[in-house]
Amino acid sequence: MKHLYRTLTWPEVRERAEQGAVIVIGVAAIEQHGPHLPIDVDNVLVEHVTEEAARRSDGLILTAPMIHYGFNEHNMGFPGTITVRETVFMDYVYDVAHSFVRQGFDRIVLINGHGSNQMLCNLVARRIVNTTKAFCTAAAHWWLAKPAVDRLRESKFPGGMAHACEFETAMYMHLQPELVKHHEIGTREAPSTINEFLFDDLFGSGPMHFVNRWSRISESGVEGDPNLATPEKGREFAECSIENLIKFCRLFREMKVQPERDFNYQNPNL
Ligand SMILES: [Zn+2]
Repeated sequence: MKHLYRTLTWPEVRERAEQGAVIVIGVAAIEQHGPHLPIDVDNVLVEHVTEEAARRSDGLILTAPMIHYGFNEHNMGFPGTITVRETVFMDYVYDVAHSFVRQGFDRIVLINGHGSNQMLCNLVARRIVNTTKAFCTAAAHWWLAKPAVDRLRESKFPGGMAHACEFETAMYMHLQPELVKHHEIGTREAPSTINEFLFDDLFGSGPMHFVNRWSRISESGVEGDPNLATPEKGREFAECSIENLIKFCRLFREMKVQPERDFNYQNPNL
């Protein structure tokens, strides 16, 4: 069965909606990833996880063409970065997700590969739930890899895994090894740990939310320790994300939708 939405004809789209396919939309960014990785890291990682999960899901998942650009104003001091304003980004992702709902799909999953997109994707998912009868949820792909990260992580917490770090570099080494500039790895920066309230890591941040402009705090654009990356770790991270995404989509498909109720006073004058 086809697993990529873009390869379907319209009668096939209708059929898959009727069969209850779960739509997975990858969301990423074009952004600097230090001197050792290309600017398409977030796209490559998300595309692999979302398309491979669909391929292995026996028709449960249909992966949609992804959203290539993200919310990135904080990184505009580095060449290569493209940013979309937060409100435009949210409206755009909402309209894409909502188009699937209008076709009859009732389970939508946003899989994000860029930290700053996450809170916006969460809000988009909530907007879909608030404005339609469909269920929509959002997650960063690295959270789905957490069991493998817990097993293999060598960089310190917090700060060792944040951007172009052990995690992202390992995944990219696994997927596009020929594009990794190994001689440029050596940059180790963790400017994200400012104090006990302000720190940043893919796997947990401090209680205060604060994202500085990166050119103020970073020389290389790296946040974390890419020296600890290996392609073997990258393969394990990717496999864990893919398996967990399939597992989640099965559970998401089975979730029952309870009828909505209105406990408010029904004022006859209104
Ligand atoms: Zn990234």
